[in-house]
Amino acid sequence: MRENCDVSLPGEKQANGHLHPFSQAINQLADIFLSMGFEVVEGPELETDFYNFQSLNYPPFHPARDMQDTYFVKNPHGKENLVLRTHTSNVQVRTMEKRTPPLRVCTFGRCFRHDAIDASHEQVFYQVEGFVVDKEISVSNLIFTMKSILSAFFEKEVEIRLHPSYFPFTEPSYEISFTCVNCNGRGCSLCKGSGWLEIGGSGMIHPNVLKAAGYKEGEWQGFAFGWGLDRLTMLKYKINDVRWFHSGDLRFIRQF
Ligand SMILES: [Zn+2]
Repeated sequence: MRENCDVSLPGEKQANGHLHPFSQAINQLADIFLSMGFEVVEGPELETDFYNFQSLNYPPFHPARDMQDTYFVKNPHGKENLVLRTHTSNVQVRTMEKRTPPLRVCTFGRCFRHDAIDASHEQVFYQVEGFVVDKEISVSNLIFTMKSILSAFFEKEVEIRLHPSYFPFTEPSYEISFTCVNCNGRGCSLCKGSGWLEIGGSGMIHPNVLKAAGYKEGEWQGFAFGWGLDRLTMLKYKINDVRWFHSGDLRFIRQF
């Protein structure tokens, strides 16, 4: 049989993919951090109890562990418990151990908690974290750093508000809010009329964390902060439900 091929027919167009909104947000934030002298460091998602908890001043059986609904993983190669990391803070002591300050480090990545899933909670979520270790670091450095990064990310000047809070790995500890980017602080349904949006936790690095990293007592100090990257991305792109991100729905993803 003779083959019939019409070379003049138009070809099939290949569809191009593009970066997921998370990747776009991570790239933008990484550029901002880098412009401020930070370096980007990565850490493992499957982590030991030591780096996820103990080195961060969460002793075994400490009640603060209850707040992080943890997935434990059997360790076939050793006795130490493994966990799916509950925060990106596992990178802190891992990095400090290998290095001598001054340190300016940021990290981005997936975290895992056994949360009930709803419009603002997923069991797999992303965090962005920054920490600095140096001499004479203060809370005002922390505020200025967070304000600069958030203002650059949202392309408008925001203010930072700190609430006293408790985290084992910082002392003092603060919850962070910043000016609502939807209403510029006037009050709207997104910020429930308050004019402020909560974004995560922060504080001065606890001396026990610096000790776990092997630093001499009293020689170094620093700050650390961790934000929900899902929330930042939702605010930036005006997405109303976190479940869209992993839905695989092309009608959603093609908008970005
Ligand atoms: Zn608002």
